[in-house]
Amino acid sequence: MSKKAEKKKIKVAFPHMGTISYAWAYALRKVGVEPFVPPYTSKKTLSLGVKHSPEAICLPYKLILGNFIEAIDGGTDYVAMLSSPGICRLGEYGSCIKNALKDLGYEANYIELRLYDGIKGLFSFLKELTGKNRPILFTRAIIGMIKAVFLLDDMEKLLFYYSAREITPGDAEKRYKKALTYVRDARTQKDLKMAKKKAFAEIKATPIDKNREVLYVDITGEIYIVCDEFSNQDIARELGKMGVQVRKTLTVSSFLKDAIIPKIFRKGETHLQRANRLAKPFLMRDIGGDSLECVSDVAYADERGIDGIIHISPFTCMPEIMSQNIFPNMRENLDIPILPLIMDEQTGKAGYITRLEAFVDLMRRRKRRRKSEADKNVAETTQKVD
Ligand code: SF4
Repeated sequence: MSKKAEKKKIKVAFPHMGTISYAWAYALRKVGVEPFVPPYTSKKTLSLGVKHSPEAICLPYKLILGNFIEAIDGGTDYVAMLSSPGICRLGEYGSCIKNALKDLGYEANYIELRLYDGIKGLFSFLKELTGKNRPILFTRAIIGMIKAVFLLDDMEKLLFYYSAREITPGDAEKRYKKALTYVRDARTQKDLKMAKKKAFAEIKATPIDKNREVLYVDITGEIYIVCDEFSNQDIARELGKMGVQVRKTLTVSSFLKDAIIPKIFRKGETHLQRANRLAKPFLMRDIGGDSLECVSDVAYADERGIDGIIHISPFTCMPEIMSQNIFPNMRENLDIPILPLIMDEQTGKAGYITRLEAFVDLMRRRKRRRKSEADKNVAETTQKVD
């Protein structure tokens, strides 16, 4: 394509959520659209969003609006919003954001991606955006995007393993950031394959202390907050510094398995299937957001005997308020420490870290106590046998 034609490409921006921009940028490029990646979510984004949002609306809305304002100020032609028919406020987000931008005098085109319509929703989004119907090209773009999402989630899992054990603080993170550039620069599925190889090698080169006493903690909650490091105040990194290996129970790849990937291509039980199996004794039906998954995640963490689980949600998020009210009931039957955290624009870092440190301390003491009790039992049994 000539340079002149390149210039004519329309620019499209999605809101941020963790590292998702690398995946949608890949798909947009594939269909001949220029991805416009807004500045990563910052305090400025937050204050823009807060200024133009209803006070009681949930934090993700404010941050998404802030991302869109910064994208339009930066020169994007389109802002693209994920929409859902959900029971919670997400169902209304799209029209609220569209109206807010119009009221503020922003001229950018607004387009919705109905992700909950699965592959059909993705196809109609690409068709509307490009004004063409190119099934083979769209299929390639979607497959590449899905592969990029899985790769990004796998890289993050590796990061969590290495940052809990690294010898030099911050080393794994530095390598992970470098590894992300390989995915950012990938333009074909072959590039993605190569990026995976290089990215894994880069992160795995982090020198670690294999004998460190590591705690294992799941992080559940509302998906945006769980995945977005700005809004969760980088909880995984903070816990990594304390020798905790985290596992995010809600990821974009697990969402795609349930919402987009056809059944014949899925392996094993999906998150939603597990949620329906494990949440039922405590929550009978879907009440919106990720509450069914969150309740089941607590039961699943208990079943695996890990050290604890953190539930993180935005202030005023109705489905997650319900989940947090179910946890005390679950504690009667399960034996796992649960830390509920509520985030909003007022959440201060120092108090937040103190709560994490206290939780880690509790889990560590509990783990040591259990180990010494188990050792004592083994010693007593051995004595009896002798
Ligand atoms: S799940 Fe909660 S935070 Fe997310 S859109 Fe719904 S109400 Fe808002």
